Amino acid sequence: MNTNLGRHWDEDSLATLQAQDNKVGYSGWEFRYKTLSQGCATHIVAAFDPTISGYNGLYLEDCTIFKTLQSWASDPEAAKKLWTFSEKLVGENSHANVRNGVLNWSNHCKWHLENLTMRCGLLTFGYTLAIAGYCPFCVSDETLSPSQRMQQWMTKSTLLNHIDKHLETGAKKECPYPPCRVALMNVADSRAHFQDAHCIEEPRSNCVSRKRKSEDHEEYVQDTNGETLKYVSKKAKNEDEKVQGRIVGPTTVIR
Ligand SMILES: [Zn+2]
Ligand SMILES: [Zn+2]
Ligand SMILES: [Zn+2]
Repeated sequence: MNTNLGRHWDEDSLATLQAQDNKVGYSGWEFRYKTLSQGCATHIVAAFDPTISGYNGLYLEDCTIFKTLQSWASDPEAAKKLWTFSEKLVGENSHANVRNGVLNWSNHCKWHLENLTMRCGLLTFGYTLAIAGYCPFCVSDETLSPSQRMQQWMTKSTLLNHIDKHLETGAKKECPYPPCRVALMNVADSRAHFQDAHCIEEPRSNCVSRKRKSEDHEEYVQDTNGETLKYVSKKAKNEDEKVQGRIVGPTTVIR
């Protein structure tokens, strides 16, 4: 498929690939793009066709099981190499290790502490939490345990209220977040900085539930499997649902 994924792909890349193929004795194939629907079709068959459920692990091409694989395409050693190499490229294997039980939660948090990105704020998609938020003050506090430092905040308002408590003791001269440390002037400056540089946002302001939820509504869970999504505060979720119900219709309240 000719998608944006190939935006760095040029004539030379194709030539290099073909030369590599010739080298391993695999030649004569014709390069052609598929359309979007053609490109999706095999994936859809793989995901939903009940007749292939007995063939787990086999390779599909053009919506059918492809049996005459080249030896290098089914070589477990090569597969392992490719997997490890891909992990290196994206700099990530920690989540898989937690899932597989190789890493425990505390070590996983340590890994995150060593690989901090600038984002601290949580990321939601619609009403669904995609990535939990972190407190830039707690993350920087080396007197806390790794899992305390990486405490996960599930709603924007509880994270903001928590950060406000840190700010009540007066703004720091610099941003506490380890990979940042820019100079800050006052509390208002700090708040603006947290929003701009670390994506710690106010809850959406175009619906009724503007009151920030209190910290008690957060169900903080010391997770042992590294799965965060199912721990969204039940109470917060109910409130969101209530709000969703109320903003439908002509009597939308905007504060
Ligand atoms: Zn993680
Ligand atoms: Zn904190
Ligand atoms: Zn900062």
